[in-house]
Parts: sequence; structure tokens; C-alpha cells
Amino acid sequence: MTEWFKELLYPFYAQSIRIDRWIFRGKTKFQKVAIFENEGLGRVLCLDGVVQTSEADEFYYHEMLTHPAMMAHGHVKDVLIIGGADGGVLREVLKHPIRKAVLVDIDDELIELCRTLLPTIWAGAGEDPRTVNAPGDGVKFVAETKDKFDLIIVDSTDPMGPGEGLFRLPFFRNCQRILRKGGLVVTQNGVPFYQPAELRAAHDYRAGVFERAGYYLTEVPLYAGAHMALGWASDTLDFPAVPPATIRKRYAARNLNTRYYNPAIHGACFAIPNHFQAIMYGPEAAKPKARAKAAKPKARRSR
Ligand code: SAM
Repeated sequence: MTEWFKELLYPFYAQSIRIDRWIFRGKTKFQKVAIFENEGLGRVLCLDGVVQTSEADEFYYHEMLTHPAMMAHGHVKDVLIIGGADGGVLREVLKHPIRKAVLVDIDDELIELCRTLLPTIWAGAGEDPRTVNAPGDGVKFVAETKDKFDLIIVDSTDPMGPGEGLFRLPFFRNCQRILRKGGLVVTQNGVPFYQPAELRAAHDYRAGVFERAGYYLTEVPLYAGAHMALGWASDTLDFPAVPPATIRKRYAARNLNTRYYNPAIHGACFAIPNHFQAIMYGPEAAKPKARAKAAKPKARRSR
């Protein structure tokens, strides 16, 4: 009898993926974990019933969460990755000549599970001498660390449960405190089509703390709802305004061997459809707001 993994994303919408072979099902201290094999997607990772990533489509998301910021900044030395237990962002970050990548995922058991059961995503990133594995709560880490970073990448679950604090004001204030001049924070921020309230709330928090804040878009085949929004914020870097010629030069020099990201995609990812701009920034502003008063988040639909 064919078994299906049913992802009930919203009360009115679900998607199903055929389970060809179970790899792992269980619970860690923090979340329910399901890893199974599917003919078209390879191994699929789900947390608390929500699809996180798959071997077949993971690079769309992990490359786009990593390389635009790396190429726009140009001289990233120290990276903080919050979440990211599946190892994909770490693997992409290590393609750059950085000094260290600190991985802070709240779930150390999940890190070990992914390292052994998702070897094509981790791809040996855990053995790289530049990797510092520091399991813990990202909200706490940024509040307590004395370290400074050039780039903070938040590859977390959605703003519910342990992930909630990663989308709120105190977290962004601490990110601002630990970023070096020229540094920026980028974060997964859900699917605008289905999660508009989340987008608006998180953007207002970031814009209330940083000089500049905005979104860029990618697509992730497994994330129902077309576009995936990636939020960014910086006090000094005008992320979307880095000249295309600079991006092209840096990309050619870096020899990144990417399967999704390239300089043309970099330029296009900041093109935001009108109705998303209205959701993200409010109808009155057609572009990222400069420092704005952080609005109280409206009720949001959790994924
Ligand atoms: N790529 C996925 C996506 O876009 O939804 C997310 C990948 S990753 C598996 C999500 C990670 O966020 C999980 O490993 C989870 O343990 C971690 N996480 C959730 N809340 C966290 C927190 N407060 N601090 C650190 N990691 C957290």
C-alpha cells in the first residue's frame, strides 16, 4: 500500500509526497523529525510535519540564502549561521575564502541525524577546519556572544516554537550589535503568497533596527506558493545597489560552482512584484523603507 507524507500547510491547503522508503522517524528534544526517500526528490527532511528540504531541490534555497550576501559584501571573513542543521548553508558558505563559520542550531541531535542521514547536503562541511559547531538557541547566542561577524544567516524554521524569537526585535537588535561595519543579516522569511503577515511583521522589526532593510526572492520547488522571501538588513551595505559589474567580477574570481545562483539571478532576485511590495513595505512605499518605527506584528498565519 503506497504511503504518503501529507504536509498540512494551512487549514485550506496541503501537499503530499510519496514515501518510497523511511530513513528515520522520531523525536528530538525540540521537534518531530521525519526523513524519507522519494523517487523524484531523493531524501526529504521534515520537521514537525513541515517539509524543510530535499536532496533534489535544496540548492535553490541554500545557494540563494548564501551567495547574494557573500558577493555583495565581497570580503566576508566570519559567518554566523543560525539554524541550518541540514548543513546546506554551511556547505555553501565554505565555498568562500572565509575565516570561520559558526553553526548555531538549537537541536544538536538533529545536526547529528542530518550529518549521517543527509550526506549529500552536508557534503563533508562538518569536517572543514573553519567550521565551529556551537549548538544552542540562536536568540541566546546573539545576546551573549562577544564575537563579531560580517554575515549572519538565519536558516531557521518558521516563526513558531523555538524559531519565533528569531523574527523579533531583540534578536535583530543583537544582530546589529555583533555585526561588523559593512556587515548584513539575511534570513529565510517564508512564502509571501501564504504568509503575508509574517513578512510584514519581520520586515518592520528589521527596518526598525537597521538603516536599511528589505527582501529578495527565490523559488524553492518544495515550498508551495511560488516565491520564497529572504529578508535582509544592514546599517551600511546597500545590498540591492551593489553594481552588477562588481558582482560579475567577484563571481568570476570566486569560481563557486553553483547550480542556481549566478550574477544575472543576483540582479533579478531584488525585483519584487507590486503586490508583494505592498505586503512587505506597505502600499505607500514602493521600495525598502529606511529606519521605520517597528510596528506591532499583526496576527499571522503560521505555516
Ligand atoms: N531550510 C529550512 C527552511 O527554509 O525552512 C530550514 C532548515 S533548518 C532544518 C531549520 C532549523 O532551525 C532546524 O534545524 C531547527 O532546529 C532550527 N532552529 C529553530 N529555532 C531555532 C533557534 N531558536 N535557534 C537555533 N536554531 C533554531
